[in-house]
Amino acid sequence: TPNSDNTTNNSNNLTPQQQQAMLLAQRKRKVKDFQFGKPLGEGSYSSVVEATEIATQRTYAAKILYKRHILKEKKTKYVKIERDVLHALNHPFIVKLYYAFQDQDSLFLILDLAANGELLTWIRKLGSFPLHCARFYLAEIVVAVEYMHSKNIIHRDLKPENILLGEDMHILVTDFGTAFQCSSSSISSSSEDGNKSSSLTQHQQQQQPLPNLSSSTTLTNHPSNKPINNTSGDDGRGRGGRSTRKSSSSDDSNQNRANSFVGTAEYVSPELLKDKAVTKASDVWAIGCIAYQLIAGRPPFKAPNEYLTFQKILKLDYSFPPGFNPQLRDLVEQILVLDPKRRIGLDKVKEHPFFAGINFNSLTQTAPPRLI
Ligand code: ATP
Repeated sequence: TPNSDNTTNNSNNLTPQQQQAMLLAQRKRKVKDFQFGKPLGEGSYSSVVEATEIATQRTYAAKILYKRHILKEKKTKYVKIERDVLHALNHPFIVKLYYAFQDQDSLFLILDLAANGELLTWIRKLGSFPLHCARFYLAEIVVAVEYMHSKNIIHRDLKPENILLGEDMHILVTDFGTAFQCSSSSISSSSEDGNKSSSLTQHQQQQQPLPNLSSSTTLTNHPSNKPINNTSGDDGRGRGGRSTRKSSSSDDSNQNRANSFVGTAEYVSPELLKDKAVTKASDVWAIGCIAYQLIAGRPPFKAPNEYLTFQKILKLDYSFPPGFNPQLRDLVEQILVLDPKRRIGLDKVKEHPFFAGINFNSLTQTAPPRLI
């Protein structure tokens, strides 16, 4: 692997070829080491393109962030979070960050290439997943989220757009720009947000650092973020609900993130709406919404605007379409529970009869079922 973390071997024991490979792995990458190819997508402050490393001919996805745009939109904090969290995680179901570097105008994150796009695209293409496929993909999502929670990282924006599929059709969870590091208890507080920066900076040292964009950069939010009860949200016809990166503070330069609303309206948990609490259980809630969507073809809480969507969530106002599998329905009902303390945990999710026959430990070695 070209990840520079894996370079602690004693070079004396290596063959010349291995030594050469090790030197290559350790070398810091630059823009000129890559050939940039076809566009893969556009984010609100980034472009993602295919990138082939010239020396190895290995293909990655390059997320290119324009410095001026990030500064103008005050997104520096999210870029740093994304880079640091990705670097802290190492799991086959989570998109891997291999290199981070920059030129004068742009920052580059070199990531696993998810050649088969977003889970959302597949839901739209199929209308509804065959039950065995829904079971398999939900199991992979559970494993990925359980792993990130074991590292005390809460994703906060889980949704089918952020679950990508690799060449091998296994999942690659992405978009950690709004992730949050908590303590081992699941409910975090604003003071723990302070810890986050310090605990993640140790990983920065292993990665080629991205210097500050500007000494005057303050970590504030996008001014266009809407208040939590805004009524101007998406109309459901777009590519999916947009992520919201919102803080109750006008300058949340570290301390106030537990009081912030981030995520996407349709997948936001009731405790986040009511108490602005950041919890691991909120990620479980989002898994419940995704489970419903894989079969129903749409998320459980969907309304013409964000305000009405939030009202539906707070009232637990949703229903199952006819023919919805009863076992999955029971699981969704145990997840979509308003009180996060009464919501089923991932350990119990894995034991639910819906997952009978799934071996959670061998999913990486299991060939995904054919979707079409
Ligand atoms: P926003 O920044 O507005 O939340 P986003 O998270 O979708 O949007 P990006 O992460 O920049 O923004 O992704 C933009 C597009 O590129 C998405 O459509 C996504 O599917 C695609 N993409 C992102 N990462 C990869 C990847 N590793 N492999 C393949 N495609 C990717």
